[in-house]
Parts: sequence; structure tokens; C-alpha cells
Amino acid sequence: MIVTMKPDAQLPDIELVIERALQHGCRVHRSQGDERILLGILAPAGCLPSIDVFEALPCVDRVVRISTPYKLVSREHQPEGSVIHFASAQFGGEQFPIIAGPCSVESEAQIFETAAFLKSLGVPLLRGGAFKPRTSPYEFQGLGEEALRLLRRAGSAQGLGVVTEVMSEQDLPMIVEYADMLQIGSRNMQNFALLKAVGATNKPVLLKRGLSATIQEFLLAAEYIASQGNLHIVLCERGIRTFDNSTRNTCDLGGVSLLKELTHLPVVVDPSHATGRRSLVAPLSRAAAAVGADGIMVEVHPMPEEALSDGQQSLSFGAFADLHQQLAPYVNLRALQLRLSPTTDAAVPAIVASSK
Ligand code: PEP
Ligand code: MN
Repeated sequence: MIVTMKPDAQLPDIELVIERALQHGCRVHRSQGDERILLGILAPAGCLPSIDVFEALPCVDRVVRISTPYKLVSREHQPEGSVIHFASAQFGGEQFPIIAGPCSVESEAQIFETAAFLKSLGVPLLRGGAFKPRTSPYEFQGLGEEALRLLRRAGSAQGLGVVTEVMSEQDLPMIVEYADMLQIGSRNMQNFALLKAVGATNKPVLLKRGLSATIQEFLLAAEYIASQGNLHIVLCERGIRTFDNSTRNTCDLGGVSLLKELTHLPVVVDPSHATGRRSLVAPLSRAAAAVGADGIMVEVHPMPEEALSDGQQSLSFGAFADLHQQLAPYVNLRALQLRLSPTTDAAVPAIVASSK
């Protein structure tokens, strides 16, 4: 349940609510709203105390039971959208950050060239897989720690934040030494031990939607991370499995808009894995911006035709530069909208639709 304090509540009033919650075996998550303190009360399974326990206390304005199974990540818990800052990027704010880079880190030349190119366009975040979740064990599995070293050096050389996937708990202590953001891939969205482990770090997490995950399962996966104390989570829609295999996956943009209603966490779209086709990356990126996504993740490679993984969906530098230019009007409108009404989320389909 959520306890909303009165605007004039002081520290002792808040402490009293916390003490009462602890007496009932609950955990408390505190967040600062625009004007008030909100306290999320997390009870052990089946032991939710009565609302009266809190309602009777002075300086409590109202107490609401949360109707969704996920709590910390819900809009009920935190009505304002979260803004996640790291490196020079900001997810959920005025920016529309792009995470870009190759599917896999393959060589020093490949990742350094890509980093320099992205820097020249002002793209803040470099991606690259070091540990690759491949369907076949005979396909390229990634260069492991060597790739992490190259990614870190390339990012630092250009002042870019770096994002890479963590496939197992075992690799996590090593990866946190190199990465600025930890990616949990689709195939691990319900690896609960891994979710808890990244939840216990202080690194931002990019959580990708599972191949067949419902929106509720996706949000519960985010809740696993949040429940360990890490609320620096960015959700990523990367396409789901449907009956239609004309594209690699089906990009659920309706799901993106729904997520923006259900959660305060930023949501980005990965049009590369969502479609598996280079020609569809730009249109879906524009569509993502128009439905209110908070950024995109795109695969780009100096020579896509020679990529060791996902070449068919990777953009060349030329195609990426073109996409970057196409997105400028959407990004400007997003910033304008947030400046005009800072408390609303940035979906501006009506204006955006006429701008391009
Ligand atoms: C990736 O981003 O490289 C990746 C493997 O993505 P996904 O987990 O969405 O398939
Ligand atoms: Mn890939």
C-alpha cells in the first residue's frame, strides 16, 4: 500500500509511519513526490496490515492499497515519471537518448571506429556484447572479458557511457568493473537470481522484455530488481514472438504506450532486434519516438555485411547518420513539450505526426 503524507509532515511523523510498518514486519520504500513524501509499504506475503494502522496517524493524508502485483515500479506508487541519469544521458527527461553500437564487440578497430563515429553525432551511449546469448552453441559467443576491456577503452576514449549484457550472476562482479549500464537480455528476463543480483548493484539496468513475456511479467521482472533497492531501471521493448515470422519479432508499440501508463520507469525501444531487418529500423525508431518511448537502442556496425552477429539488422554509419537526422524533430518536440508541462510524460503524437 502507499501512504501519502500531508505536505507539512515532518521527519518524526514519517518516522512514526516507518516504525509502525516495521512493527508489522513490512519493508518501507520512501520516495519524494513533487510536494509530498510517499511511503511504499511492502508486506510479507499474506500479511498486509489493515489500512487503519496508518490512516490513524497524524500527518498521514491518505492510504491506498495498490491494486497491481508490482508495486515499486507502478505509477500508483510514483505518479511522476522517473528520470534515470548516467554518463551524459538522461532517460525519461527531455533527452531522447540513443544507445548504439555493434551487436558484438569484435575487434579494437571495430569498436573504436564505432565509438568515434557515435561521438561525432553526439550519441551518448555505446553498446556492444561481450557475452552473447546465441541460439546455437556453435555460433560466435562473444570475446568475453577482452570485449569488456575494448568496450570500456573505446567508450572512455570518446567520453561515452557503455552498456553491455550480463548473462550470468557469475560474470556480474567482473562486468560491473567495466560497464556503466547492465543489460539483461530477453532470454534472461525471468532469471530471477540474476535480476536480484543486478538489483543489489548501484548500476542502471536496461531490462529487455522476454520473447514471450506479458506486460505484467515484464513489470514483475522489473519489480524483482527494484525490490533489491535498485530503481535505476530502463525497460526495453525489443519485439515479442507472434504467429507472424515476416519480421524477426513483432514490435509491440501499443505495449510501450501501456507501459508508460502503468509504470514510472523510462521505456525504450530496440527496433533492431524487434524487426531483424535494417530497412525497418528507421521507421520503427520514428514510431517509437511518436508513441512516447524515452529513447532507442540501435545496432550499428562499420561493415554490417561482415558482422559476426546480427549483420542483417545492423545499420551502416551512413544509414545511422540518416536516422539520427530524421529523429531530430521528434526530439526537439519532446523537449518542448516537457518544458511547457514538466509533469506530463512526453508522448506527443498529435504534434509529432504533423512534423514529419
Ligand atoms: C542484444 O541486445 O544484443 C540482444 C541479444 O538482445 P535480446 O536480448 O533482445 O535478444
Ligand atoms: Mn544483436
